[in-house]
Amino acid sequence: MKTKALKTVNIITLGCSKNLVDSESLLRQLESNGYKVLHDSNQPAEIVVINTCGFINDAKQESIETILQFENLRKSKKIEKLFVFGCLSERYKEELETEIPVVDQYFGVYNIKELVESIGAHYKNELVGERHLTTPKHYAYLKISEGCDRTCSFCAIPLIKGKHKSRPIEELVSESKFLISKGVKEIILIAQDLSYYGIDLYKKFALAELIDKLSDLKGLKWLRLHYTFPAKFPMDVIDIMKSKTNICKYLDIPVQHISDKLLQNMRRGITKQQTYDLIDFFRKEIPDMTLRTTLLVGHPGETDEDFNELIEFVRYAKFERLGVFTYSEEENTYSAKHFKDDIPFSIKQARMDEIMEVQREISNSLNTNKIGKVFKVIIDRKEGDYYVGRTEYDSPDVDNEVIIKSEKKKLRLGNFYKVKITGAEDFDLIGELN
Ligand code: SF4
Repeated sequence: MKTKALKTVNIITLGCSKNLVDSESLLRQLESNGYKVLHDSNQPAEIVVINTCGFINDAKQESIETILQFENLRKSKKIEKLFVFGCLSERYKEELETEIPVVDQYFGVYNIKELVESIGAHYKNELVGERHLTTPKHYAYLKISEGCDRTCSFCAIPLIKGKHKSRPIEELVSESKFLISKGVKEIILIAQDLSYYGIDLYKKFALAELIDKLSDLKGLKWLRLHYTFPAKFPMDVIDIMKSKTNICKYLDIPVQHISDKLLQNMRRGITKQQTYDLIDFFRKEIPDMTLRTTLLVGHPGETDEDFNELIEFVRYAKFERLGVFTYSEEENTYSAKHFKDDIPFSIKQARMDEIMEVQREISNSLNTNKIGKVFKVIIDRKEGDYYVGRTEYDSPDVDNEVIIKSEKKKLRLGNFYKVKITGAEDFDLIGELN
């Protein structure tokens, strides 16, 4: 006899893929207690939980606007309970309790257990490592650690997430087995700082050992690395990457800047020359490696000369994937305490636009060189008459895509196909089945 679901819980996830993993763990706990669970849904639900982001101003604004969206529904009792957790709540709990008191309860980033119990469910330790996946079933994120021990001057994350804490290799292997048993073929490793993995737990860099073990798992087709850190990069990772065919030739490594003065002010622990040498090393060791990076423009003290050094570096490094942020002063960070946010927003914006224009040219020429070549592509979705997929050089949601027209043959989502590139756009590729 089918038991009636207790209540419906809708979880809204804002921010990064690390937040998404937390929401998926929460969804799994609640569904195992008999709740009907929804994610980022417009469907009615008795209980709404908002997983917030508190990283930079724009993200904070979006989180507050989302809470206010549900404020009226809560006041008018259209929803019975409204809970908020995640980074914004961790960072500004008291202020939020005062300013938006209609929320039933605010929780920090590490209080999923308390949140589950406040909803009225029973927290199950045996479900740790199990998740209700919200991504397309063929890929999933795996969070290998929490927190960060770095001291980047502009960053509030260590103030929110605390010290770096690695998860044991055994736990990550069993969670990966769980994901693969659910049909996942691509696992994307995430953390605040992937490179630092193991230092706290094993007193050594252990990322190479971890990816070596994970890549041996049967059924894992692609293993991808995000959020590595340039200073003291664990070079043994590159050796493992070269030796394993199912580790994507892909590395996300935010460098943020290149001028020695800015790298010092940002407390990145690396010099201009060391950064150039690191890029050269990657290019020499794995020539077809795709490098993704993130840059920060408009940090206090950044002169035209500093910025020109950055443009020159972007032209030299020819990153295959690149994103730019403008400096946002975050309270209690080193930069907020020691530097005046003296660069007008218009200049920050102009510098960001100039870099993205240079990057658009680089990306277009790199894509054009791929015309005629054949790549293994995984199909993520169907859009109208087209299928949309990715090569091993593209991470979901942030990178380029391959647009495939296949009239004759119906393609299956989550399957791999050989695709010949027939056209190139600034960022995306056009292809046909080979
Ligand atoms: S590595 Fe630096 S930028 Fe990244 S989370 Fe840690 S402190 Fe922030």
